Amino acid sequence: MLKFYNTLTKEKEEFKPLDPTQVKIYNCGPTVYDYAHIGNLRSYVFADLLRRYLKYKDFGIKQIMNITDVGHMVGDEDASKTGEDKMEKAAKKEGKTVWDIANFYTKAFLEDSKKMNIEEPEARPKATEEINEMMDLVQKLITNGFAYISNGSVYFDITKFKHYGELSGNTIENLKTGAGGRVNNNPDKKNQLDFALWVNNPEHVMKWKSPWSEGYPGWHLECSAMANKYLGETIDIHTGGEDNIFPHHESEIAQSEGANGKPFVKYWMHTRHLLVNNEKMSKSKGNFYTLRDIEGKGFSPKALRYLFLSAHYRTPLNFTEENLKAAENTINNMINFLDRLEDVEDVDKYNETIDEKINETEKKFEENLDDDLNMPEALAAIFDLVSFVNKAIDDKEYSTENLTKTHETLMKFDKVLGVLEHDKIEITEELKELLGQRESARNDKDFKLADEIRDQLKDKGFVIEDSLSGPRLKKSLKF
Ligand SMILES: [Zn+2]
Repeated sequence: MLKFYNTLTKEKEEFKPLDPTQVKIYNCGPTVYDYAHIGNLRSYVFADLLRRYLKYKDFGIKQIMNITDVGHMVGDEDASKTGEDKMEKAAKKEGKTVWDIANFYTKAFLEDSKKMNIEEPEARPKATEEINEMMDLVQKLITNGFAYISNGSVYFDITKFKHYGELSGNTIENLKTGAGGRVNNNPDKKNQLDFALWVNNPEHVMKWKSPWSEGYPGWHLECSAMANKYLGETIDIHTGGEDNIFPHHESEIAQSEGANGKPFVKYWMHTRHLLVNNEKMSKSKGNFYTLRDIEGKGFSPKALRYLFLSAHYRTPLNFTEENLKAAENTINNMINFLDRLEDVEDVDKYNETIDEKINETEKKFEENLDDDLNMPEALAAIFDLVSFVNKAIDDKEYSTENLTKTHETLMKFDKVLGVLEHDKIEITEELKELLGQRESARNDKDFKLADEIRDQLKDKGFVIEDSLSGPRLKKSLKF
């Protein structure tokens, strides 16, 4: 039985989509004012894992991930603050237009996604191209009595929506006495916790004419409008990082349900935060990483993808270079194992226990992922299979049929993992010769020469592994 932890009910629930031929998923996408940092990337890789596993289970998918290119203000993560538009701030800093900033970082984000082997969702709508839908939603909320116009801006009256706070576990009373209730006294608002649906600001660079004023939409509104347009009034799954729960997702629920009078989302799924060396990531601490930084240090984006997969999405992940290095080594071992399966000579000794192990591994893989996407346990089952088959090869207890089936099974798992596709490693005559020379040098106790040859091989991208059946060449780190 497939079960997901639902942030709304705080329970693992059986997954029953509205329509299994088209599971409707909405992911909060990037605000394109800067490169995505690795904390953002963690939640996008999670969304991809969810997508890929549902496909593995034969569900049809309609997944939407938006691009926020207007209206996300500095301070929007706090309930009642409003600061400068993140896009406009970046434009000033970089001396470009906001539209150039949006294009540049959208392109960079799509490149990152591709490098991380994230599958394309069915659509990536941009907020600036959905303004009419947003205005329609605001109008509905005014008509239904959930929103009010004040000085040309439109605010959502949170006291009118009785479920406000259910997702995050906040109550309006607690919020009022908390920091969010006190700061930034805005005379236009009935309650300081009311959030903006439409902001009156003719000075704003990105602005549109509306029935209320010339201005721009609120960030929370954008996601409600795009989810509604592309997926309908009620959707199956909505994902995001845990920092999106409040106020962003709480406000999305209030808007969508206030406008449509129907439940908005069946399953809310959130990834926990990412720490760097056990500290919160921040630009001022210098522990702020983008994918470009990771690549600059010589790591493969797939290593980062694997690192994300190796921790359960509902546990905080501590990023360190050592973890990343270990992740890269793990993938290297796996791809070297896959190549070994194709390269070793057939000893024609069909081994029934390998078949049994494959069946057991498939069962464990699925059971663990069915249990709220427990990837660490699913991976443990895969490693178990790898060492079992490696030993059978060392013991010469296998047939080609066994190895082909093992290969196929791993590549089937990789439809979910997305890290094992690679160009097959070619061991040329030149490499074989170098390996032979290094062996002779070692036998002659000429360790200096042996080390020199080892370094030459390393420069060519190979490491030597001394196995039971003698030294073997392994592709190192780059793939
Ligand atoms: Zn959103």
